[in-house]
Amino acid sequence: MNEIPENATQTAIMANGRSFSYNELQTAAQRFARVLLGNGADLAGARVAFMVTPGFDYVRVQRGIWLAGGVAVPLCTTHPLPSLTYVIEDTQAAIVVVSPEFESVLAAYVLEHELRLVVPGNDDLVTVGVLPTVPPSRPAMILYTSGTTNLPKGVVSTHANIDAQVSMLVDAWHYAPTDQSLCVLPLHHVHGIINVVTCTLRAGGTVAFMPHFSAQGVFDWFLDMAQQPRRGVFMAVPTIYFKLIAHYDTLPNDQQQALTAAMTTFRLMVSGSAALPVSVMERWQTISGHRLLERYGMTELGMAISNPYRGERRAGHIGQPLPGVTVRLADEHDNDVAPGEAGEIQVKGAAVFKEYWQKAEATRAAFTTDGWFRTGDVAVLDDGYYKMLGRSSTDIIKSGGYKISALEIEEVLRTYPQIEDCSVVGLASDEWGELVAAALVVGQEATLNTDELNRWIRDRLPAYKVPRRYVIVTELPRNAMGKVTKNDLKTSF
Ligand code: ATP
Ligand code: MG
Repeated sequence: MNEIPENATQTAIMANGRSFSYNELQTAAQRFARVLLGNGADLAGARVAFMVTPGFDYVRVQRGIWLAGGVAVPLCTTHPLPSLTYVIEDTQAAIVVVSPEFESVLAAYVLEHELRLVVPGNDDLVTVGVLPTVPPSRPAMILYTSGTTNLPKGVVSTHANIDAQVSMLVDAWHYAPTDQSLCVLPLHHVHGIINVVTCTLRAGGTVAFMPHFSAQGVFDWFLDMAQQPRRGVFMAVPTIYFKLIAHYDTLPNDQQQALTAAMTTFRLMVSGSAALPVSVMERWQTISGHRLLERYGMTELGMAISNPYRGERRAGHIGQPLPGVTVRLADEHDNDVAPGEAGEIQVKGAAVFKEYWQKAEATRAAFTTDGWFRTGDVAVLDDGYYKMLGRSSTDIIKSGGYKISALEIEEVLRTYPQIEDCSVVGLASDEWGELVAAALVVGQEATLNTDELNRWIRDRLPAYKVPRRYVIVTELPRNAMGKVTKNDLKTSF
């Protein structure tokens, strides 16, 4: 995880207007490891929670924890105190690292609970000495799931798991030393940690950090990248593309043209973490010249299924299994479904996590007797490409004997002129089991006639998929990764 490229003076990180070379990063991480180890603390397997803004300090702290043999537990920098202490208590972290800006948030709690507080500072005088050897089978990280459907679960991944996640993605998406990635994502989830930061650094490229997202800030970076010899790489969640498109539409013509020209110089643009609406994919392609590469992944396994780097990137589809990942679609008895039938995505491979932290029952339930990980997501294999139908818990609506994909109905609703965004859920119903209900976000000036909408949708969907209830909302409830929290949404009806 910590190898340095041949040209160690190459820039690894750009943040706060400063550049840091691979040499600097490596030395700083080793010194921080020594700070953690002090005069002989044994950190093997010890959880170290850290709350550090995405940037150079974040990466040196994370790598320092790994070099010291500890388990890195990144905390979300925008979470309220109870969410932070939930993670610290759940992992029983005895060491909490906070950058100076977050000291006021956590210091009192850390003192009161007699934990060790470490504030990363200037370690220039620290002598590194000998660092421990860390076996690949040792836990490297505990990441909490996004909490989209339930309380977040701690996912334990070993160094070998992370290594597998990173090396297969670096190959599949052709990361290179000439890459420069922009990190706009939070760094307590795999999307930012693995795909953006760790893969770029593994390939010897440069990561530029923008800790506070703004659409104009991203566009300024796009314009700046076009002037540089390195090649831009941009990865984001669908809501970010949605925001970028909305901002683009407010810009004058000449600025739009300059941006479009700048984006065509990029090497790669990727979307994931939630379903990418076809309309967003198409609009982004006209604006940027890039057909977004959509992929499917999870905290529990990194990336598993991806559209190809070269070849057709099919809208509304998540692609094919990455090399090293074995995927099958299974029915409720864990048998393979017939070709063309919908089934749960089940996965095997070296990237699959070790266990849910101190949740032996949840871990047992997550694996079949013959070792397949049950993702809880339902898909169908459609002409060689997997198509997500949604999470079995909230997106597969069981109504009148049918299993209905909420994602499919959302795709259709989004093409209705007045609808800007929408989310479909199943509401408990004595008559139907569940009935299809849609929450709609409409344009500010638009008025929506649901009778007209119903007539329109009946021409496009069979009667049993047509929503029985509508509610107009100003905004959909979303978590930090921009995913709609459908259990919260259900209370709007
Ligand atoms: P929790 O497990 O706490 O409910 P979560 O499942 O959202 O939260 P993550 O591990 O961050 O936590 O997200 C993984 C999930 O995100 C997948 O199981 C899948 O449902 C969804 N997902 C990821 N990529 C895609 C995609 N391209 N299209 C649709 N859904 C996706
Ligand atoms: Mg999940």
